Amino acid sequence: MTTRHRYKPMLAKEAKAPFTDIDWIFEVKWDGFRALAYIAHGAVSLRSRNNKELLGNFPELQELTQQSKRMILDGEIVLLNKGKVDFQTLLERGQATAPTDITLKATRSPAVYVVFDILEKDGKPLAHLPLMERKRILKESLRETKHVLLSDYVEEEGEAYYEAAIQKDLEGVVAKRKGSAYTAGLRSGDWLKIKKRRSCDCVIFGYTQGTGTRANTFGALMLGLYGKKEQAVFVGKVGTGFLQATLKTLLAEFKKIETDTAPFEADVAEKVTWLKPVLVCEVAYQVVTRDGRLRMPRFLRLRKDKQPKDCTLDQLGEAKALLEYTAKRNFAKTAEPKPETPSNNETSKIFVIQEHHARRLHYDFRLERGGVLKSWAVPKGIPASPDEKRLAVQVEDHPTEYAQFEGEIPKGEYGAGRVIIWDKGTYKTKVWSEKMVEVVLAGEKLKGRYVLVPLKKAGEKNWLMLKAKD
Ligand code: MN
Repeated sequence: MTTRHRYKPMLAKEAKAPFTDIDWIFEVKWDGFRALAYIAHGAVSLRSRNNKELLGNFPELQELTQQSKRMILDGEIVLLNKGKVDFQTLLERGQATAPTDITLKATRSPAVYVVFDILEKDGKPLAHLPLMERKRILKESLRETKHVLLSDYVEEEGEAYYEAAIQKDLEGVVAKRKGSAYTAGLRSGDWLKIKKRRSCDCVIFGYTQGTGTRANTFGALMLGLYGKKEQAVFVGKVGTGFLQATLKTLLAEFKKIETDTAPFEADVAEKVTWLKPVLVCEVAYQVVTRDGRLRMPRFLRLRKDKQPKDCTLDQLGEAKALLEYTAKRNFAKTAEPKPETPSNNETSKIFVIQEHHARRLHYDFRLERGGVLKSWAVPKGIPASPDEKRLAVQVEDHPTEYAQFEGEIPKGEYGAGRVIIWDKGTYKTKVWSEKMVEVVLAGEKLKGRYVLVPLKKAGEKNWLMLKAKD
């Protein structure tokens, strides 16, 4: 890092629930690219968490040079579309490389830089000052322009603010302690992120056969909800979030309620054992996809206090309209359009590479697939050019939530050491077979085709990872 770009953003710890406290302020948690802006003498540099220059992809933020003061700011590059945060389009903007494409995208979907902190003004460091003092200086120093906005906040009323943010479909809120200094590069308990959690109560209509460590229990639960006229609608399957003991208890219950009747047609590859609709479970999820499935579902608990018939589509809010449409139609017989169900190859799924400072430093390469993260540990790092081949050791599937994980695994625990997200983004599958996995990554750092091939002669779990020629 050059001395000119010497700061790293302060990071927030995760908190489970919003709270109300006079010593704290609450801000919107923006779903965008975190960026530090270095403004001096009519020039600006916008640096990502990895100290990558972002200005090239966001030329409209050159506007920051209009600020009259020399400043180092902290904020988030956000793309708003009809009043909603559009992270997908922002990702595409961040990945554009051709100058004409960048210009076109900047005109069509301009971004804004939402500023929430100030680290230096006119060469004077401010990071050591209490947050509220920095907020005061920021407010008197920053001039709002077309693409530069000052982040709003409220004092004390975290719960009410959180509810309002969720109503507006925002990702959540960040709580910040009023008296705290800016601790650059550290994940501090003085900043807490509180993300929305969506959950719904679903009927368990069946389960899929398990493999590997789950061969003796089950793979995933088939979830359904009731639409109008008590018609059951498939909303997806959930395969993560179970304690070992829960797997066994559930399986014992299942044995008593097996049935031959399928309540709906479900497009799953595995063998399904159907169940009478008597069990209800609560499932957390991120969003409902366009084809009516819960995205990244996670089992929370069995609900013995709720009747299956009360598990209706109404819980899904706006998303339920499309599900009812789907439930009423048999698309094998009608030519009416089926809501967009992208094939496996076309759907963007997430990938993450975590830098893991375990006993030996390695990089964990993870690809979202079938509701889990398929994972490989790459000791020597991700190949940078087509002539590098790297050993990649396949490890156990990780839950999809693991893609968000950063932090310190305590001493003495499995994998003890620091985990940092090295890169993340989406990917598309070209090939996925036992003989080869080929994906196209669209990350912040890595872009393009990568190939994994098993190296059986060197051991069951060993693969080679290669960067393909584009
Ligand atoms: Mn690891």
